[in-house]
Amino acid sequence: MTKQPHELALMAEAGRLLASVFGLLDRTTLAGMSTLAVNDMVERYIVDELKARPASKGQYGYAFALNSSVNEVVCHGVPSASEVLREGDIVNLDITLEKNGYIADSSKTYLIGEVDLAAKKLVQATYEAMWKGIRAVRPGARLGDIGWAIERHARRNGYSVVRDYCGHGIGREMHEEPQVLHFGKPGTGLPLREGMVFTIEPMLNRGGRSVKTEADGWTVVTRDGSLSAQFEHTVAVTASGVSVLTLRPDEAGMTGARRPVA
Ligand code: MG
Repeated sequence: MTKQPHELALMAEAGRLLASVFGLLDRTTLAGMSTLAVNDMVERYIVDELKARPASKGQYGYAFALNSSVNEVVCHGVPSASEVLREGDIVNLDITLEKNGYIADSSKTYLIGEVDLAAKKLVQATYEAMWKGIRAVRPGARLGDIGWAIERHARRNGYSVVRDYCGHGIGREMHEEPQVLHFGKPGTGLPLREGMVFTIEPMLNRGGRSVKTEADGWTVVTRDGSLSAQFEHTVAVTASGVSVLTLRPDEAGMTGARRPVA
């Protein structure tokens, strides 16, 4: 389950490249684009510019380079030519990239144009919840510490945490052990060890935490139709704390001060 230093170096490279994909998206005006057009732009960039592979293509029979999850879609939204991003939407773009045999996984929820305050607050709280989880990562901490930190922040802000989907170990395979739940009890679960690499990717809903899968077999929506947001990073447990392999340049310093290792 733990990675060797040479593997961590390769994963860091995959993570750095994936961060640059979000740099491209940050520079793009998404309003007016279809989610399929966003997918195609991202796929061309990964293949042509980064000489890498969109790892989701072909995985579980999936045909696209990303998942695009708009508004009440929780995760696994499928890009479509008929789904055009409009002012006021929020959209999570979830992308995996393989380079030199190793995979990185990250997602970000974008605000399309002017978004109402309630949506903005949900997106902000979800981003903060992910970072609360990331800051709980250090050798000797437990998986339950991560879930607890995320769930507590969600609850304090009046949101629910989706329980049907979780973070995951990652490496040569997109989904490896362990499962990283976004809820839990502190001091419980698997102890973290240096060299472990996994994703933290909380999904927060304005309403209840129940979800359902649409008839396409992919798209997961909130059961009550409420808005949902998500952020994701791939992280590695280091000797003294955490390294965020998919960290974007605008996030430098986000891991914050950490207590010394017990
Ligand atoms: Mg993931």
